[in-house]
Amino acid sequence: MHCYFNKIFYSNYIFLNLKSVLGKSMRPNVPLTSWRRAYVCPDVNSTRRTHGQKMAPKLERFVSPWKGNGLRATVRIEEGELVYVTEPLAYCVSQKQSRNVCHQCFTRHETLLRCSQCKMARYCSATCQRRAWSDHKRECKCLQSLLPRIPTDSVRLAARLIFAMLSSCSSGSEELYTLEEHESHLTSLSEQRKQGLSQLATMLKLYLHKEVPDLPQDTPSLSSCRDALSLIAKVTCNCFTISDGELQEIGVGLYPSLSLLNHDCRPNCVMVFEGTKLLLRAVRGLSPGEELTISYIETLSLNEDRQQRLEDQYCFTCHCQRCNSPDNDKLMLSGEESSWRVLKEALPTLEELKAKSNWQTLVESCHRLLSTEGKRVPEENLYKLRVTDMALDASIQLGLWTEAVEYGQKTLPVYHLYYPDPHPVHGVQLVRVGKLQHYLAHIEEALDTFKQAYRILKVTHGNDHSITTDLLMKMEECRAEMVQQSSR
Ligand SMILES: [Zn+2]
Ligand SMILES: [Zn+2]
Ligand SMILES: [Zn+2]
Repeated sequence: MHCYFNKIFYSNYIFLNLKSVLGKSMRPNVPLTSWRRAYVCPDVNSTRRTHGQKMAPKLERFVSPWKGNGLRATVRIEEGELVYVTEPLAYCVSQKQSRNVCHQCFTRHETLLRCSQCKMARYCSATCQRRAWSDHKRECKCLQSLLPRIPTDSVRLAARLIFAMLSSCSSGSEELYTLEEHESHLTSLSEQRKQGLSQLATMLKLYLHKEVPDLPQDTPSLSSCRDALSLIAKVTCNCFTISDGELQEIGVGLYPSLSLLNHDCRPNCVMVFEGTKLLLRAVRGLSPGEELTISYIETLSLNEDRQQRLEDQYCFTCHCQRCNSPDNDKLMLSGEESSWRVLKEALPTLEELKAKSNWQTLVESCHRLLSTEGKRVPEENLYKLRVTDMALDASIQLGLWTEAVEYGQKTLPVYHLYYPDPHPVHGVQLVRVGKLQHYLAHIEEALDTFKQAYRILKVTHGNDHSITTDLLMKMEECRAEMVQQSSR
């Protein structure tokens, strides 16, 4: 049983880092990861307003009509403005990335020091290992007790949350209190989901039994989750996916105050991360009193599919403007249905090849589909875009740079169409394509692509984010190379 926030959505990105593209160490360390959107559940029932005043002055808690609690702007907020910054109450590296990322600072490294006891935790330095110890101490014993099994991300995160609560219960911190109000949605879940959560709860108890044989009953912050089931329900419903600058998943974390953010299929804010620190940024100007929103799900999908996902996973019906107006669906389904249906039906098989890193077969299958049925469908077709994206990923993995850049370039106008700017997904796709163009010495094209990327990333990630500073460096390199070429 996998945890729910591990469900893979469409939009998979392969880490395309400067060093890995230009350096020698290309193949073995290019991890395949997927972009998981921040998952968070609106806190629909609670109307307490206790700590609006403790939040950053740019936003406050309020009761949003029909949505329950929400967050709204207290002042005028400009496009690209950083609205809120916060560290997680608890976090952990996702299992898929546990060999590539320092478990303390969340940076990627080729070699990491391994905890000699649990053999799972990994650190970039002795300093990180030392810093991590207070959070890892009890976890380490729990991990050892289950070896060689490693519990799912949600179970490890829930355990870390309990350890954090136990060590700070006397201080009564603001966030612990907020967590208490979080929604578990246990009453409105389907039987199937409840069963899945029960399995996770059983695993949690097993995992914790050495260190915390009984969940604490007298801790105020845990009073609404005295049993493992409601705790795990809260965690899975409210945790956020922590991604790197390139929007690849690294871990999961709980950021209680931001669980108040409601969903919109065309949100006015985005979340990006630096390490485990969450940055909430506005992607358009906001007036005082306006509600702040993020998207809980992949927005590039049909109206009906988005609504279904929100219902199933977050137990609410979306009434946002995009959901209420007939929008892109027709365009996403453009072309001969008999042709795109073939592409649509091939997707599960392609996803499977991808999950198994069977790149050669994947690239061949995509190529075959795109040169037959795909030819009869316009680029805007959603399923054609998905196949093209998978062809891009596979080509990168195989070092087929010319093919990769062609596939990548085909996706750009469609990304532009479906991810209204400034959208981080479009920005990151531009960076990837720009890097490929640069690697193939298409310098002018690369610079142009990087410029487009910069216009987006300065808003979605900000000028100080490492991905933006890297991008600015790449642009400088391009300019220098162009000067060099013209002086020859
Ligand atoms: Zn580190
Ligand atoms: Zn350990
Ligand atoms: Zn919607």
